[in-house]
Amino acid sequence: MGWLKNRRRRKLLAAPLPAAWRGYLEANVRHYGRLPTAQQAKLRDLVKVFVAETNWEGCGGLEMTDEVRVTVAGMALLLAVGVEPSYYFGGVKSVLVYPDTYLQPPQWQDNLVVDEDGIPVHGEAWHGGPIVLTWKETLRGARDEADGRNLVLHEFAHHLDGLDGAVDGIPPLAGRAAHDNWQRVARAEFEQLVFSQQHNQVTLLDQYGATNEAEFFAVATECFFEEPREMQHHHAELYRALSGFYRQDPAVWAR
Ligand SMILES: [Zn+2]
Repeated sequence: MGWLKNRRRRKLLAAPLPAAWRGYLEANVRHYGRLPTAQQAKLRDLVKVFVAETNWEGCGGLEMTDEVRVTVAGMALLLAVGVEPSYYFGGVKSVLVYPDTYLQPPQWQDNLVVDEDGIPVHGEAWHGGPIVLTWKETLRGARDEADGRNLVLHEFAHHLDGLDGAVDGIPPLAGRAAHDNWQRVARAEFEQLVFSQQHNQVTLLDQYGATNEAEFFAVATECFFEEPREMQHHHAELYRALSGFYRQDPAVWAR
């Protein structure tokens, strides 16, 4: 990072968050209200930088507004609140937002034979590319902090997964021991989820996570931030592994 960027960030961080932005966080990002005070302040700082440094694009007729930017940023940077030194998703150059489900062009879908018109989707994270979201599902997920589903957390978790080069469900953990532990815990949990899905068993984790290890990591991340107490109870090792990666303990947040 160059010193110009550093200086720009210092300026951004020194300026107060616009009152309207705080209002968007409070109204739309329900997790924000649950965070301890110090982490709320950290999240506000992360939001300032991410909103300023990211290219935002409204697609399919969506008008890009501060509310859209701040809601997406507030939700996404929740993932980074525990990380020191501060992490701003610098690798996410662009966020594209559609109003509602959009058709994913068929040529974008690797190894899948699909209808020529494409399939309707709510979001994607391109390896080394933009994150694509729908405003409808972003807002729905952000305003319900405990239903286990959160599009923004899901797509940004894919981005984190890819930081070490491969979107393979193994996030960039510090150190060999944490890495080995993650592989052991996640593999067992993934296989259990696949088994449960095949046997029509009800699970806390969204069974979309049985698709592959990458989806498992994204789904586990949603569960960790949305249903932390349930996860801690039913998937204690997975909870601890995620807590180690995100350096957060959402099970102790206010209800
Ligand atoms: Zn996914």
